[in-house]
Amino acid sequence: MISFSCPRCKQLVFFENSECLRCGQPLGFDPDAMTVVALDGGAPAGPRRCANQQLAVCNWLVPAGAGDGALCRSCRLTRTRPGDGDQVALAAFAETESAKRRLVYQLLDLGLPLDPWADVPGGLGYDLLSSNGVEVVIGHEGGIITLDLAETDDPHREQVRQDMGEPYRTMLGHLRHETGHYYWYTLVEQAGLAEPFRELFGDERADYGESLNRHYRQGAPPGWQQEFVSAYATMHPWEDFAETFAHYLHIRDTCQTAAAYGMRIDVPHGDDLTADPEVEVDREPFASILDDWLPLTYALNAVNRSMGRDDLYPFVLSEPVVRKLTWVHHRIAPKEAGHNRAGGRA
Ligand SMILES: [Zn+2]
Ligand SMILES: [Zn+2]
Ligand SMILES: [Zn+2]
Repeated sequence: MISFSCPRCKQLVFFENSECLRCGQPLGFDPDAMTVVALDGGAPAGPRRCANQQLAVCNWLVPAGAGDGALCRSCRLTRTRPGDGDQVALAAFAETESAKRRLVYQLLDLGLPLDPWADVPGGLGYDLLSSNGVEVVIGHEGGIITLDLAETDDPHREQVRQDMGEPYRTMLGHLRHETGHYYWYTLVEQAGLAEPFRELFGDERADYGESLNRHYRQGAPPGWQQEFVSAYATMHPWEDFAETFAHYLHIRDTCQTAAAYGMRIDVPHGDDLTADPEVEVDREPFASILDDWLPLTYALNAVNRSMGRDDLYPFVLSEPVVRKLTWVHHRIAPKEAGHNRAGGRA
């Protein structure tokens, strides 16, 4: 994500801020301008706050002409939320909406098609449900993504992460993964790219239920790291795509953030931390992203270790994974010439 500053006093502000902590200026994120803007106390001509300001702690804005109760581009995507009486689930809902705004920012920033379920049959939508007392199956069907709000609870999510043997599990990661299923339909199937997809990811016509059972019975096959970005990606080609798509979004967001804050990584021992020279695939322009990304991950992992934390980036990118990420890159950014480079080596 890019960095933002207060339009009045130039203080650095965050994407989530609804006011400047230095000068008190009311602020909001304008998804049309794609930046944080100043709100002029009730001026009818300017954009207004989203109606979910309280409920979802939403700091996004709606256009000046939008009617009363209008929701912003992110909140509009939510089809189902917890009932008004469920305070625990509503707090989790607000936290999840915050992660979702970060996702939607990136989808808009990357120029991905974003048709809301309310406007287009089969369009993108979210059912945000809490498994507190009822079963919630996280997943995607016909454009609608279901998420379990209980996963905002850190001990619960950490327990699930350990049970599943995953190195990384966050609500933003769930949002990116499940949204990846939606983009499989729009960027692959509807674009007539099922055949090239199968060459890289395998045949998605394999029975999904059987694949799921096999995965939970046997786990990932030995040596899966050579071909997949995660153990879960081995389950079915659809899951491989969703995991790869989510991973691509992780890389792009983190590189953009590093560049926005002027992070510069000077690799201390030569340049052997950059992309593997053995990987002889069509990686342009994704190659330049990886050339920034890999040194950045080493540095960020080292920083986390200095704080006694687990690695920020607990993944290894094998050659087949790089091929898949490159393919996803070409689906998402077919005309993109460059990117926001971290490291100042542009
Ligand atoms: Zn200010
Ligand atoms: Zn909103
Ligand atoms: Zn999935």
